[in-house]
Amino acid sequence: MAKARTSAKRSDASSAPTPMMVQYFALKRQAPDCLLFYRMGDFFELFFDDAVAAAETLDIALTSRGEHDGAPVPMCGVPVHAAEGYLARLIKGGHRVAIAEQVETPAEAKARGGSKTLVARDIVRLVTAGTLTEDALLDARSSNWLVAIAEASGGCALAAADISTGTFEVGEVVASEIDAELARLGPSEVIVAEGSPFEAMIDPALLCARPTASFDSGKSEAALKTLFGVATLDGFGDFSRAERAAMGGLIAYLDHAGRGALPLLRPPVQRRRAAHMLIDAATRESLEIARSQSGSRAGSLLACVDRSVTGAGARLLAADLSAPLMDRAAIDDRLALVQWLHDDEGRRIALRDTLRSLPDIARALGRIAASRGSPRDLGAIRDGLGGARLLRERLALAADRPALLDALLPAFDGHGALVDTLTRALVPSPPTESQNGGFIAEGYDAALDALRATSGDARRAIAALEAGYRETTGIASLKIKHNAVLGYHVEVPAKHGDRLMVADSGFTHRQTLAGVVRFNAPALHEEAMKVAQAGGHALAAEQAHLEELLGEVAAAKDRITAAADALARLDVAAGHAVRAVEGGWTRPGFADTPCLEIEGGRHPVVEAALATRNERFVANDCGLSRENRLWLVSGPNMGGKSTFLRQNALIVLLAQAGSYVPATRARLGLVDRLFSRVGASDNLARGRSTFMVEMVETAAILTQATPNSFVVLDEVGRGTSTYDGLALAWAVVEAVHDDLACRCLFATHYHELTRLAERCDALSLHHVRAREWKGDLVLLHELADGPADRSYGLAVAKLAGVPPHVVARAKSVLAKLEAGREKTGGLAAGLDDLPLFAAALAEVEDEKPDALRSELAALDADALTPRDALELVYRLKQLASEADAS
Ligand code: ADP
Ligand code: MG
Repeated sequence: MAKARTSAKRSDASSAPTPMMVQYFALKRQAPDCLLFYRMGDFFELFFDDAVAAAETLDIALTSRGEHDGAPVPMCGVPVHAAEGYLARLIKGGHRVAIAEQVETPAEAKARGGSKTLVARDIVRLVTAGTLTEDALLDARSSNWLVAIAEASGGCALAAADISTGTFEVGEVVASEIDAELARLGPSEVIVAEGSPFEAMIDPALLCARPTASFDSGKSEAALKTLFGVATLDGFGDFSRAERAAMGGLIAYLDHAGRGALPLLRPPVQRRRAAHMLIDAATRESLEIARSQSGSRAGSLLACVDRSVTGAGARLLAADLSAPLMDRAAIDDRLALVQWLHDDEGRRIALRDTLRSLPDIARALGRIAASRGSPRDLGAIRDGLGGARLLRERLALAADRPALLDALLPAFDGHGALVDTLTRALVPSPPTESQNGGFIAEGYDAALDALRATSGDARRAIAALEAGYRETTGIASLKIKHNAVLGYHVEVPAKHGDRLMVADSGFTHRQTLAGVVRFNAPALHEEAMKVAQAGGHALAAEQAHLEELLGEVAAAKDRITAAADALARLDVAAGHAVRAVEGGWTRPGFADTPCLEIEGGRHPVVEAALATRNERFVANDCGLSRENRLWLVSGPNMGGKSTFLRQNALIVLLAQAGSYVPATRARLGLVDRLFSRVGASDNLARGRSTFMVEMVETAAILTQATPNSFVVLDEVGRGTSTYDGLALAWAVVEAVHDDLACRCLFATHYHELTRLAERCDALSLHHVRAREWKGDLVLLHELADGPADRSYGLAVAKLAGVPPHVVARAKSVLAKLEAGREKTGGLAAGLDDLPLFAAALAEVEDEKPDALRSELAALDADALTPRDALELVYRLKQLASEADAS
């Protein structure tokens, strides 16, 4: 490997590299951060370090080819026809790839510069994680976001595009919320300006630093206008300089990656921060919204809710759950559509059956717009839009249609002409590859039909020739065959070969193999020419039709994306309806006050997990209001505290995303920010300095929550020693109650905290119930009012299988401790003396340790000599003046 690296470094300094190496290095310089796929015939070859890296990622053989600077050149290659699979693995492995194609034929090269001339090659595309359109490289049920972050005029903005569907959004962000935004999107690639402060903030696996010039807001405005063919951007929104810079950086990168061919991009949608519930990265992780703690989709809320039947529906659902709404009317619109489908099973089933049969038109259009469209993509557009038209006809007849449905239906109109054209033009299931033809239907083009007839006739004539030759030669095993080298030819077993070798046999010898001999014949040659010629013309004609049809579809891209969006919205609503029916969920209602009233609430993921073990989930109520906004939940370990906290957060999130919720009744005031934190020791698996993380996350809540927020704090303070932890938990509860005044559920195992009820009016005590029965602990998972009577720690230990003698020993230690507590007043004894207001505490905190005082305290006056005493006076004076200065 080291050897390969040096040879690459010394590249052009060498005496006489081959012309091919000169060309290779020139291409490599254009895309230094990419692996270079260098096209040679039927292979893409990689050299030097690229070859070493690719061979390792792909687990393919590393060979070498020739020498460069006196060392062998490492090389590996992948066949062109299988390149997609290899690309997928390289991209997954964190690489970018530049594709260098031959841009002229060997004949053209010869004509240009003589027989030795190297075929010209050019990079035609960069394949990067954020710029994919191929189905094989994408996950059908997830969006694939490319994000650009930029700053200008002191502002900061984030632009995001999924070019596989053309989705494009932009919005201002404050620097502290960038993480939250990235967590919402889960991008595949993040572009920032080289040397910008963002470089250090982004996961290096996603980061792509680009020249600062590509983020110029002025240039980007011009680029945007050209891209969308408008004279002013005002129609799309009033963009700040930072927003324009971010969009510009994104477009410049797409231009760079596509080598000038820009992919599908819809006009940018400006994201307003206040339009969505704010959920930071830690909360997303803790609530396992799109991924579970293990990082997989399985076990997440998304996986548990998702009943969509199309890829587009799954992608939209993921977006909905990542960004719940803050607009009651919009939420109710979504819910009304869900209800309309929820209440009518026949309607729901029919809609889903139709949707299930429709192809992914958004992704097909994405490829077409990126000039990578195939005949199959055209077929997908035809079937998708055709299906949408039928759906529209059926839905338009339905009674009491909700407003959102009426808003969606027009998107399915106006595609008639295009669908008709595609229907006439294409065969029922067109292929993904266009080079072999066979995708244009019969009857679409008379000239094409004639060419096909000619070639068909000739093929039939060839078949007839075979029978004729068998008869005239008397060789029953004679066959007419076709291959790429010889074309059509006559083949006979070797033992009959001699018979056709004679001069006047009418056959010309072409090839002798081990078992067979091959010949040509004039009549066969003539028919073969007809097949080849007509076939060639037919292919060209099909290719021309393909271009034209792709152009027609690309021209209609705005209307097609609108139809695709509408189909996805229907799928999401129908999926919610199905999920609600399955789980007995209910439609949430909304209030103007910051309340959270849940009856019979359940945790959908835990409930589903229990169901697989035939266990029943115990539903619980929650009732927060302005006057009773903070619930302190205690009770034994494993009692269901964490589950209860999260289920309420998830219900809030689902409700504002426009879903039914797992409860018998739910009513809430809109939540502007949702926070969920888990005490460190619950989360050791994350493998970070957990207590620090816990405190950083807690600090974020204390500075960001508003009276309309909902905060879930689970065992905060647990990651440190008992006294520290209790003290912090105490102070945090007080701050949430007094300063933030938001809705909050706080789970704790610190029994001492229950005393906060005495001084916090809007705080109430609750516990998860447990009972000891015949010496065994029974966890009821049922929430009750009031504090827990005891902690049941030993009972839990026993339940967990801690050996009996250890439990017995712990019991005797506990008895000692409890006796001690009675005598000294216990852990919480000092809490009675706490100042009533946190402010008073803060003043005490502010006092610095007094150096003067400690010096005096340490002093043994009797032991001083006169000289020591004089020095002491100087030192004390010095300390006093230092203290004054600081
Ligand atoms: P805690 O936070 O009090 O230690 P958890 O919320 O982690 O307890 O719950 C522990 C386990 O108890 C869960 O994994 C689940 O299997 C079960 N559980 C929790 N809540 C319920 C419930 N409401 N109904 C049934 N089982 C529950
Ligand atoms: Mg817990």
